[in-house]
Amino acid sequence: MEKLTFERPVIQKINAGLPSKFGISSRMEPITDIEGIPVRRLIEEFGSPVFVFSEATIRKTYKEAWRAFSTRYPRVQFAWSYKTNYLNSICRVFHQEGSWAEVVSGFEYDKAITNGVPGEQIIFNGPDKSRDDLAKAIANGSLIHIDHFDELYEIIDLCGTSVKRPKVAIRVNMDTGIYPQWDRFGFNYENGEAWDALNRIMVSGKMDLLGLHAHIGTYMMQTGSYHIAADKLAALAVGLERKYNHVISYIDMGGGFASKNTLKGAYYPGSDTTPSFDDYAEAITSSLMKSEIKPENLPMLILENGRALIDDAGYLAGTVIANKRLADGRRATIIDAGVNLLFTSFWYEHDLRPAVNVSDQTEDTTIYGPLCMNIDVIRGSIQFPLLKKGDQYVIRRVGAYNNTQWLQFITLRPNVVMIDITGTPHIIRHGETLNTINDLESVPEHLESTDNGTTQRTK
Ligand SMILES: *Cc1c(COP(=O)(O)O)cnc(C)c1O
Repeated sequence: MEKLTFERPVIQKINAGLPSKFGISSRMEPITDIEGIPVRRLIEEFGSPVFVFSEATIRKTYKEAWRAFSTRYPRVQFAWSYKTNYLNSICRVFHQEGSWAEVVSGFEYDKAITNGVPGEQIIFNGPDKSRDDLAKAIANGSLIHIDHFDELYEIIDLCGTSVKRPKVAIRVNMDTGIYPQWDRFGFNYENGEAWDALNRIMVSGKMDLLGLHAHIGTYMMQTGSYHIAADKLAALAVGLERKYNHVISYIDMGGGFASKNTLKGAYYPGSDTTPSFDDYAEAITSSLMKSEIKPENLPMLILENGRALIDDAGYLAGTVIANKRLADGRRATIIDAGVNLLFTSFWYEHDLRPAVNVSDQTEDTTIYGPLCMNIDVIRGSIQFPLLKKGDQYVIRRVGAYNNTQWLQFITLRPNVVMIDITGTPHIIRHGETLNTINDLESVPEHLESTDNGTTQRTK
């Protein structure tokens, strides 16, 4: 018989303070496998830590969101937000499902092109588009969402040399009842700047104004804000028709739907409080349908969600390095993935689970990453069972932003694996090696030798 693991007994103060609807049970369910593959096997085969994506979950989530919108509105188009996760295989799953690409830099634009997205299906957002980027986007017939007047003037200037007419939209920011307002991108609605921009575009006669765009924030819990935003964009569309007899082709409501992750400081878990795709879809489509836009002119509705479509599909699996007691007696568990890989742990109380069967006893624990840096904390406080050195863990809902915001800091970035719909795992990004990093460096001739002429040895 296998010897049971010794667990140090602890005396704990009972904090009955705020009983939630979950009672006081603190048993933690392990996640022992992902899409039917044991976590232990994934780690043996692909190393530790390792990011694991479920293709089935991506496709299922996409279809859920698609159904919510397409059953409520006649013409819907999704555009995958590249910055949320631009691993090519992830993007291609979305493109296969029917998504266009939504990019915010020349680099992301080129990535979309190499993923086979036709130029006319790339939405180019963001405040930083170089003259060359803009020229390329015009030549390819991409949808340029103008962020500021300097960009507008640059496009007008480019019209002098370009044979093609630029296809443009403006990004509009507005008061949607969420504060602080996101007013740094695009043209403001309330102060009239959005109309200034529209007037200049229309009067220039040099561009095709195809759309109106808003992206009101990220992790937005208030569906009512989307309703307000859609009302305001619809009002601009109605105004354009009245004043210029111009009918726009699309309204782009951006992204920003909350994922089921739990924000720091939230009382209930995100999985209980996050609005459903139906809630968001109802808020947006009911606004457009009741607007004064004529039914025959109803624009295509574009959505650029990232987070809500990919978070659930991503896991980070790894291994416990050590346990220790802090000066005050508190338990600390050190795992092999830190904030370098899990950038979102600055905002989320990530759902960290054992990947092995554990005892029912949990203890308030701090989970540290492996970095030699004080802020490397994955969970400041979590009721967690004892995991021994070498045991595996899994962190759920890490699909959004981590593979784009991760840092090559102190250590190398690991393999990323995708489990396809037949249950076969594939490496979709190889773990970095010393060469990956050193290949980008060059050393001037006078630094080639590190011999300082004297030989010093420690005794
Ligand atoms: C980041 C971004 C998105 C995606 O946001 P999520 O919060 O991931 O849904 C969509 N549109 C624009 C313009 C963005 O900058």
